[in-house]
Amino acid sequence: MHVIDYNLFPGGCRHCITMSYDDGAGSDVRLAQIFRENGLRGTFHLNSSHFGRSGYVSAAEVPEVYAGHEVSCHMVTHPMPTQNPDISVLEEVIEDRRALEAACGYVVRGMSYPFGSYDERVIALCRTAGMEYSRTTKSTNFFCLPQDFLAWHPTCHHNGQIMEKLDAFYSREMNGSMCLFYVWGHSYEFENGGWPLIEEFAKAAGHREDTWYATNIEIVDYVNAMRALRVGVDRTTVYNPSATKVWFSLDDEPVSVEPGGLFRL
Ligand SMILES: [Zn+2]
Repeated sequence: MHVIDYNLFPGGCRHCITMSYDDGAGSDVRLAQIFRENGLRGTFHLNSSHFGRSGYVSAAEVPEVYAGHEVSCHMVTHPMPTQNPDISVLEEVIEDRRALEAACGYVVRGMSYPFGSYDERVIALCRTAGMEYSRTTKSTNFFCLPQDFLAWHPTCHHNGQIMEKLDAFYSREMNGSMCLFYVWGHSYEFENGGWPLIEEFAKAAGHREDTWYATNIEIVDYVNAMRALRVGVDRTTVYNPSATKVWFSLDDEPVSVEPGGLFRL
């Protein structure tokens, strides 16, 4: 009997790195550029009430500053969502989407929770407002994919020994499964002598052929497409009903199935 494993990212990679930065401070300009130069990709979670304030990226700057990365919600005014009534949570997400979508020109489908504040009620409201993922501030200190994308726990904050973790990430023990290294933080935290740390990390982590560099929503779309594959009884046919090319292992060999395509052994 043939064996199928869902253990590959695009290109047949076992490793994926994503960066996730909050609040839209002006320091994002430098950070987004460091990521681009080193081949890293990330998601920037913005509060639209910060547009036009000094020390923050403006709406007009959004397309250029975040080129190659993803623009994502962080709610309009950076509230504490667990303390807010339903209508306020909905409005904070939807109005943030409205402003961000006007600035970036595409559908904004994800977010991070301000103050890492969330519960079951907040998750349900964010889903209703069109959110497909939301990042928390709870470090797993590991490299697993999330059980629930609306409670997406990162690997660690950038102050969580990221260089040491990078070694562990590429160690032999991690070779068999899909590994995701998810780093989060705020770019303004680098302003007090922290830039060398993230520059060193970006240089060491970027431009590797064995790694898929993705935004948060690209990971959501890929994993959802992977989980949506229809597999024949004998595991010799696999139908991909999604719009995303999916890779998987068949008897330990990497294969892929095109969007809308049927793979036959
Ligand atoms: Zn924040």
